[in-house]
Amino acid sequence: VPELPEVETVARQLAPLLAGQRVAGLTLLDRARLPLPGRGRLRGRRIARVFRAGKQVLLELRARAAAPLWLAVHLRMTGRLVYRPGARRVGRRHLRAVLRLERGWLLFYDPRRFGTLALHESPAGFAPAGVEPLSPALTAARLGALLETSRQPLKLWLLRQDRLVGLGNIYASEILFHARLHPERPASSLRREEVARLHRALRRVLRWAIDCCGTTFSDFQDAHGVSGAFGACLAVYGRAGEGCGRCGGTIERRVHGQRSTYFCPGCQRG
Ligand SMILES: [Zn+2]
Repeated sequence: VPELPEVETVARQLAPLLAGQRVAGLTLLDRARLPLPGRGRLRGRRIARVFRAGKQVLLELRARAAAPLWLAVHLRMTGRLVYRPGARRVGRRHLRAVLRLERGWLLFYDPRRFGTLALHESPAGFAPAGVEPLSPALTAARLGALLETSRQPLKLWLLRQDRLVGLGNIYASEILFHARLHPERPASSLRREEVARLHRALRRVLRWAIDCCGTTFSDFQDAHGVSGAFGACLAVYGRAGEGCGRCGGTIERRVHGQRSTYFCPGCQRG
C-alpha cells in the first residue's frame, strides 16, 4: 500500500513530465468502479502543477476563462500512475483510466480496483482531515497536543488519517523504532522528551524514504515503473526473527488491529 513517501515520489516524478501539457481528454476503462462525472470539463485545460495532498496525487488544471479544477487520484491499495510519451508499448492489463495529453499519456493501473478519481473545484475538496507530518504546522507541541487526547496504542494512533496523514503499516513501525518507543504505549502516556523523539523520527524517516524513492515491496512502482530503494533501509519492518541493528536483540512481530507491527523489544521498551 503506497504511503506518504511513495505518493510524494510519484507526484515529484510526474511534475516535470506533465506540467504545461494540455489535456486532450480522459478515457475511463472501468466506468462501473471508476466513474468521473464532469470529466468533459478537463478537455483543453493545462496542467499547472502536480503535487501530493495526504495520500492523493493532485493535478491542478487551469483554463484561461474558467476557475481552476483539481483532479485527485487516490492510489489506495494497488493504484499506479505511469507516464508514457505516446500510445506505443502501453500495457492494457489492469488499465483503468487514461489521461490523454498533447505529448503523451498518463495511465492509471489498478489491479485491486480500490483507487479513485475525483474532480474538485477548490482545495477544500481534497484537503485531508489530518495534519501533514512534514508541514511546518506539525511542531512537537502540536504533535503532543494531538497525542494527549487519545489512549490508543501508538502504532494504531499513527495509522489514523484524521490525526496525521499519509502513514501506513511500514512507516509507522519504522518511525516508532527510530523514536525508541514501544508500539503499545498509549498515545497520551508520552512525556515531553518522548514526544520530541517521535517528532524527530517522523520527519527523519519520511524524508529519508522520499530520498530513497519509496519502499520496495508488493507492487509499488514509481512513475517510471521502477521500484523504490528504501526496502534495503528498513530497520524492523518485515524482519521478525532477525537481529536488531542497534542492540543485537531479536525483532518481534505482533498483530494490532489485524495488521502486523514490527519492533525491537530491546530498543522499544513497554
Ligand atoms: Zn534493538
